[in-house]
Amino acid sequence: MPQEKLAKSADEKSRANMRDYDAEYAAFSWEKAGELLDGLAGGKINIAHEAVTRHVRAGGGARTALRWIAKDGTRRDISYGELDEETNRFANVIRQIGAARGDRIYALLGRVPDLYFAALGTLKAGCVFSPLFSAFGPEPVKSRMEIGEASVLVTSKALYRRKVAQIRQDLPTLHTILLVDGDGDGDPGVHGLGELMGRASDSFEVEAMDPEDIALLHFTSGTTGKPKGAVHVHQAVVAHNYTGRVALDLREGDTYWCTADPGWVTGTSYGIIAPLTNGVTMIVDEAEFDAERWYAILRDEKVNVWYTAPTAIRMLMKAGTDLIKEFDLSALRFMASVGEPLNSEAVVWGNEVFGMPFHDNWWQTETGGIMIANYASMDVRPGSMGKPLPGIVAAIVNKDDGEAQEETGSDTVGELALKPGWPSMMRAYLNEEARYRKCFSGGWYLTGDLATRDADGYFWFVGRADDVIKSAGHLIGPFEVESALMEHEAVAEAGVIGIPDETAGEIVKAFVALKPGFEPGEDLRLDLIGHARKRLGPAVAPKDIAFRQNLPKTRSGKIMRRLLKARELGLAEGDISTLESDEK
Ligand code: AMP
Repeated sequence: MPQEKLAKSADEKSRANMRDYDAEYAAFSWEKAGELLDGLAGGKINIAHEAVTRHVRAGGGARTALRWIAKDGTRRDISYGELDEETNRFANVIRQIGAARGDRIYALLGRVPDLYFAALGTLKAGCVFSPLFSAFGPEPVKSRMEIGEASVLVTSKALYRRKVAQIRQDLPTLHTILLVDGDGDGDPGVHGLGELMGRASDSFEVEAMDPEDIALLHFTSGTTGKPKGAVHVHQAVVAHNYTGRVALDLREGDTYWCTADPGWVTGTSYGIIAPLTNGVTMIVDEAEFDAERWYAILRDEKVNVWYTAPTAIRMLMKAGTDLIKEFDLSALRFMASVGEPLNSEAVVWGNEVFGMPFHDNWWQTETGGIMIANYASMDVRPGSMGKPLPGIVAAIVNKDDGEAQEETGSDTVGELALKPGWPSMMRAYLNEEARYRKCFSGGWYLTGDLATRDADGYFWFVGRADDVIKSAGHLIGPFEVESALMEHEAVAEAGVIGIPDETAGEIVKAFVALKPGFEPGEDLRLDLIGHARKRLGPAVAPKDIAFRQNLPKTRSGKIMRRLLKARELGLAEGDISTLESDEK
C-alpha cells in the first residue's frame, strides 16, 4: 500500500469549494445542504426544478447547460432556457399519451439530446425515469422493463428494431414507444417523438413531489437472481448537488465533462443531475472512446472539471504521453475517477502528464451519490479511495457470528459499511424486500465491497465480497450471463467469472459443460459467444468460453464460481468442504 502523498499547495487548497475537510465534516448537516437548493412550496421538491427551472427563474436561462458533440463532430449548444422548454415539451408529451405520476418511463438511447430531455421531462411530470444502457441486448432490456413495469420507452429506430420489437409481446405494461428519429411505420403504440414534441406546449407546471416519492430506478446486479431495481427518490438531489460541489469541486459557470453513459448510475447522478444543479455547462460526447478525440474535447471545450473512469485512464496511458503534449489542457482544474479500482500508477501518471492527480472516489448504484472521495483541498494518497463525504459515516465491519461489528483498528480487511440516512440512499430494491433487508446488519448498510481503513482515515479498496464482475466499469451479474448461456441447446451447465484484464479491469469468462451429444470445439465455442452476444449485448456477453466435463458444485448444487476462478488464476482453492462434484 503506497503511503506517499501527492501534496496540494496552500493556494490550491484555498481555492477549493471545500477548503477544510475536517471542519466541514464536523459542521455538516443534510438540512444545511438542502438549503443550497430551492425546494417547492409546502415542503415539496422536484429534481428537474432544481436542475433546470431554478436557474432560469434566477436569470440564468441564457447560459449553456449542455454542449452536445455529435459523432461527426458537429456541436449543438442547449441553454438552460431551451432545456427548460424541451423538458416541458417532453413532460407534456408523456402526459398526452396517458402517463400518470409514478409511471415508469424508460430510455434506451445513445448519448443524444433527446435522452436528456426525456430524463428531466419525466421527472418534471412526476414519473419515474429508468435508463438502460444502449449496448444491452434484448434480454437485459426485457428483464429490466419487466421488473420495473415500464409504461413508455424512448428509443431510436435502430435500437427498437434490433432489441425491442421481438420482446414487446412479453411486456404487457409497455403501451407506448417513442422513437427519437422517425415515426412508428404504423406499428401500434409506436410514435415519432419529434412530431409529438413539435406539437407540445413548451410550458409545464413542474409536479410538486413529496421528497420520498420515487424519481429514478437504476438497475444493478447481484451474485444470483434477477437484476435489482434500486429505487431513488426526489430528495436524492440534495446529495447529488452537494457531492458534486465538494467531491467534484463543481462551480457555476464551469465546463464539466462526465464521460459515463447515462445508461448507468454515474451518467445520471453526475452526467445529468449534479452538474445541472450546480449550474455548469456539461459536455456530452456522442462518440465512444478515442484518445485523440478526448484530448481535443478537453482542449477545445476548455473543460475545467473532468470525471472519468479507470478503464479510460488506462487506455489513455496506453496511447502514450507524447500524444498529450500536442494539446493545451490549461483550462483543466480538477480530474476525478470512479467505478473500479484506480491503480496508484494511474494517479501518479495523471500528476505527471496533466500536472494534477486523478481524484479517485467510490460509490455504487445503491448509494446514489459519491460516498468516499479524494478532495481538491486534500493531499491525495495514490491508490486510496479517499475519505467519507461530510454527512457520511463509513466503517469496516465483520459479521462472523451474527450482526455486523465495526473494526476499530486500522488496516483490517472487512466489508465496507455505511450508516444509513443520506438523501440519495436507495429506498428499496423494487418489489424485493428480502434482498433489500439483507443489505443491512447491526445498524449498517453493507456495500458488498471489501476494504481497509488506514490510521489516517483513508479507505482502500480490496475487492468484492461477492461474485459480481466489473468490466470496463460496468457491473455484470454472473447469473444473468449463465442464464443466457443455459438457453443454448448444447449447454448443460454454465459458470461465469471475471478474470483480470490489464485495460478493462476484468473481463467476463464462462465455463460450460455440454449436454450429451454435443462435442466441445471451436465452432461451438464461437456459436456460444455469438448466442450470448445476441441475447445480452457486447457489454455483458462473455469474451471467452471454456469447456469443462463438469463444473465444481456445492452439495446443494450451486456452482462454485470462486473455485472456478481460483483454478483459472492458479490461486489457493480455499475452503472446499462443501464441494460435491468436481472436475479439474
Ligand atoms: P455500480 O453500482 O455499477 O456503480 O458499481 C459499484 C461498484 O463498483 C462498487 O461496489 C465497487 O465494487 C466498484 N467501485 C466503484 N468505485 C470504485 C472505486 N473508486 N474503487 C474501487 N471500486 C470501485
